[in-house]
Amino acid sequence: MKKSKFKAMVLSCIDPRFQNIVHNHLLKKKLIGKYSAFTIAGAAVGVTHNKFKQWHKTFYDNLGTSIHLHKIEKLIVINHKDCGAAKIANGKKEFTSANEKKIHKESFSKIKKQIKKKFPKLKVELNLISLDSKITKF
Ligand SMILES: [Zn+2]
Repeated sequence: MKKSKFKAMVLSCIDPRFQNIVHNHLLKKKLIGKYSAFTIAGAAVGVTHNKFKQWHKTFYDNLGTSIHLHKIEKLIVINHKDCGAAKIANGKKEFTSANEKKIHKESFSKIKKQIKKKFPKLKVELNLISLDSKITKF
């Protein structure tokens, strides 16, 4: 496994089922002790979707602080399937796998765009964990 060169911020969801998976992923990437954690319902969904508008500024303020204080160079986003926040974002529509995928994809493209605008030097890595613990990069 390649040793990570970068300090990072990890944006992940509060869901208890995925804490260990996220931890093991970061362990494998040799990031323990090198990342700031920002854990909020929905991960990228929580910090980009209109249903959670009040959370957005808090995230970007924290990210700015972490860039300043900890010299982080990368944002690692880890969304997951069967996410309660994605269900809230989905609204009254049926939570089909197509709708679910769309919500995650939209959150990824929004966060990428906003990071490019606010912190152009920051690298962004986008991941989605499935229910069998597999992590897919986007
Ligand atoms: Zn979640």
